Amino acid sequence: MPGETLDDAIAAARDLRRKNIASVFTHLGENIFDKHEAENVAAHYQHVLERIQAQNLDSEISVKLTQLGLDLSPELCEQNLRRLLAAEQPARTLWIDMEASGYVDATLEIYRRLLAEYPNTGICLQAYLHRTVADIEALRPMKPTVRLVKGAYAESPAVAIRNKEAIGVRYLALAKNLLRAQARGDVRRAAFATHDPKLINRITNFAGAEGLSQSAVEVQMLYGIHSGEQQRLAAGGWRSGVLIAYGNYWYPWFVRRLAERPANLWLLLRNLASS
Ligand SMILES: Cc1cc2nc3c(=O)[nH]c(=O)nc-3n(C[C@H](O)[C@H](O)[C@H](O)COP(=O)(O)OP(=O)(O)OC[C@H]3O[C@@H](n4cnc5c(N)ncnc54)[C@H](O)[C@@H]3O)c2cc1C
Repeated sequence: MPGETLDDAIAAARDLRRKNIASVFTHLGENIFDKHEAENVAAHYQHVLERIQAQNLDSEISVKLTQLGLDLSPELCEQNLRRLLAAEQPARTLWIDMEASGYVDATLEIYRRLLAEYPNTGICLQAYLHRTVADIEALRPMKPTVRLVKGAYAESPAVAIRNKEAIGVRYLALAKNLLRAQARGDVRRAAFATHDPKLINRITNFAGAEGLSQSAVEVQMLYGIHSGEQQRLAAGGWRSGVLIAYGNYWYPWFVRRLAERPANLWLLLRNLASS
């Protein structure tokens, strides 16, 4: 994280822009059970969209539906999301994060309804879930915008692939599928959110072999992770984007990052010791 405030995130986005790297803002938080709190989150994101437009930033937002009140009521959540979509510029994507597997049906239901009205709504899909192959097929007639990730939650083998290699194989197959669908116009925009260097190489090689232009391939990473690779991709003509998280509700988010990479614990301890 560049810092806890929106100003910190905007300063980081400006810096990235100079390197030809776009940004996506996300305000940390999830599982909000209070109606006013969920409405406050929507009001905050509306303010973020106004700042992006006023300052002409190359930035989008990505929201978690449980932060907009999904646990409380899908109707409230959808209302909050509609408020943001009405404020977003049609040329930019408003991204919806994907949370734990128990939320996928509700998330996709809301996504489908909103996509029909706002073609610039984007959804994150998780390669580790068995269902994702079918979910992409089902969304295809609606020309979705998809951010493909491996998946960050601890899921049971009944719903998700657990083996790292196998997740990589599935990810690559889905990425190829999405790139071809994007080239045909069945997918409006595909973004590959991964730091995995082998996977990125295979995706860019595949795009080359298919004769796709570099600007057809978008790779997104987290702020501060593999920054050299982010810049290398941008300098090479690929679309490079960075998710910038900010806010003070970082504990559950950090625990997921820790589960992915225990070495992050040392990073935290070093930062605490030096602060
Ligand atoms: C832009 C973006 C949006 C995302 N949105 C969602 C979402 O909505 N829902 C969801 O379930 N998941 C989301 N994720 C997380 C994703 O599911 C993975 O958990 C995460 O990206 C790690 O997988 P990887 O593909 O980078 O590969 P990995 O195999 O996990 O990592 C490859 C290499 O990247 C580096 N690396 C990866 N993660 C870290 C880290 N945290 N700290 C330091 N180095 C690291 C390491 O060098 C590692 O060896 C998102 C990720 C990104 C980048």
